[in-house]
This record gives sequence, C-alpha cells and structure tokens, in this order.
Amino acid sequence: MVVHRAAWLLPIAAPPIRGGWVTVEQGRVVALGGESDAPPDGNAGAAPFAGGAAVIMPSLVNAHTHLELSYMRGLVPPAASFDAWVRTLISLRAKYPDPLAADIIQSVRDAVAEARAAGTGLIGDTSNTLVTARMLRDLRMPAHVFHEVLGFRVTDGIEAVSAARRRLEGLGELEPDVRVSVTPHAPYSVSPALFMAVANETGNTLTSIHLGESPEEVHFLQHGGGPIQAALESVGAWNPLWTPPRCGPVEYIDKFGLLGDRLLAVHGVQLSYRELAQLCGAGATLVTCPRSNRWVGAGSPPVEQFYASGVRVAIGTDSLASVGDLNLFAELAEIRALGPSIPARAILDSATRIGAEAL
Ligand SMILES: [Zn+2]
Repeated sequence: MVVHRAAWLLPIAAPPIRGGWVTVEQGRVVALGGESDAPPDGNAGAAPFAGGAAVIMPSLVNAHTHLELSYMRGLVPPAASFDAWVRTLISLRAKYPDPLAADIIQSVRDAVAEARAAGTGLIGDTSNTLVTARMLRDLRMPAHVFHEVLGFRVTDGIEAVSAARRRLEGLGELEPDVRVSVTPHAPYSVSPALFMAVANETGNTLTSIHLGESPEEVHFLQHGGGPIQAALESVGAWNPLWTPPRCGPVEYIDKFGLLGDRLLAVHGVQLSYRELAQLCGAGATLVTCPRSNRWVGAGSPPVEQFYASGVRVAIGTDSLASVGDLNLFAELAEIRALGPSIPARAILDSATRIGAEAL
C-alpha cells in the first residue's frame, strides 16, 4: 500500500479536501481522507508529498478523439471554413491508404502515451479503420471505440451495419479495458437508410455523432446545396434523390430514433438553446471540443449556453488533425477563457465524472 499526499484532494463526487491523501493498493485507490484523519497504517510506504500547488484528482476523460488520424499532426493547417479544412483532410487521407503503415501505428502509440502523460485515463475514440482498438487494449488504455460508418449514397444500410459488426467481431477479445460499438458519422455524410439501420441494428448501444459542428451543416439540412453538397459531389458521394429535411441536426437524428441517453452529440457549436434543451431532456451528453472547433473554422462553441441549458457536458480534444496536442487540460483552459462564468468545479466534473458516465 502506498500513501499519496497533496495540498488538495479533489474527489469530484464530493467537496475538495484540504491536505488530502489517498492510499493505493495494486493500482486502485482504496481509501482517502484529509488533514483531520490519518491514513491507515500511518505512513507506511508513503510517496513524497506532491507539493503545495498540487492536487490529487481522478484521471481526465477525453470523450472524443480519432487516434487513427494522429499521423496528421501539423499537416492540416487551421482553416477559415469547415469546408476548406475537410477538403485538405480528405486529400491527405487519400495519400495514406494503408492504416497499418509503420508511421501510422507509431503515431497512435505516441498519441496514447502523450494523453496518458497529460492525465487522461479514459478515451472515447472514433475509428473508421479500427486500427486503434487492439492497440488501446495492448497499451492498457481504457477506451470506448466507436466504429464509424459513413456513406451518403448507401441504400442498403442493413448490410453496411452488418459488415461493420462483423469487423468488430473479428477484433477478438478486447474487454475489460476496451469496448466497441457502431456509430454514424454525421448528418451530412450518412444516408437516411444508413442512419435507420444503425438505429435498428445496434439497438441500445452507445453512439457518438458529430452534430451541429459547422454553419454549412445547418444550412445543408435546412436548404440543401451549399459547400457540403459541392464537397459530396466532388468525391462522387452526392445522392441527387436526397431532399433536405428542413430541420435542425438534433431533430434530424431524432427522426431515426437516435436521440436518447446513449447518445454522445459531438461539438454542438451551431445548436440553438432549444436544441440543447432537447438533448438535455433526452439525457444525451454533449461533447465539446473547443480548440478543434476554432481550428476547423466552425467558430467557438457557446459553452456558457451549454452549461445554462442543463445538458450533460463532456470534453474532448478531437484529433491531431485539428488540434496541436491531446492535453485535455489545454481544453479546460479554453473553456475557462470562453466561459468565465462557468464554475471551475463544473468544468472539472465535465472532464472526469460526466465523460466517464457517458462512455
Ligand atoms: Zn471528430
């Protein structure tokens, strides 16, 4: 048993404790307390005091990233519009067709090590190639891997989802550290048939959908056309039979039965207060990634509105294609700057307990 001490202990689920300590046995916290109560067994095996400015707190939860894109660090520059950023990403991705290439694998390893060194202990990882699932297991990094499906022209959604499930089954045993589920990417990249199939086929599993990220997405759902249709056309993915649903992103996925307490709605930069309240009412979790939002030209998220609406807020970094590092503390600083009225304890709750509960 080892006793760790710091100036403060932040249990998150309970108020801060001055002069806090925890005792750790075989990697697990087995007891905790403060200056008014002594740790069991005196100071046997005590680790050095962590210092006057240090706190002991739970691991942070990065509720949204794409580790498989880690090789893109520094290669996709910040963009003035989401459309411009996506185009650079797509053309770059086409140059790296082998998801098992040595530099891609090494970049995932480095990214996981970097996240762990910055205090992250649980990751919500979105993956198309599934290269990360076994790696996260082998690296002992607890994670939920969302196997993302997309295809705006897909008509046989059931077959697409069945194929995705077979790929997941082919991964072998991943638990206890890693869990998996099938998830749709976003309203502008997933056909109605595919959304329907995910909702029907996956039943009550966890989904993580990019929702309300850019103004272009909102315009596309309301009116069709615009840069998103042009982008789909340019990659041969446009479906001329598609008609805009003339509603917002939250209402749109609700039509398929995907709005509920098993949903992580990622970004939400463009959502109205009414839509945030809808997410809240459904028990969904909103995952905010403010540094990424700015990088991709989607604008800064209205974080004060997020918290005022009562929706459960978790925090992610998104991928190294749209952020400089996977240090979640930098994300917390960004939220602090964007929303000075949000209590620090609410931000820490988002970065720990709420992210963990969502995943
Ligand atoms: Zn993302």
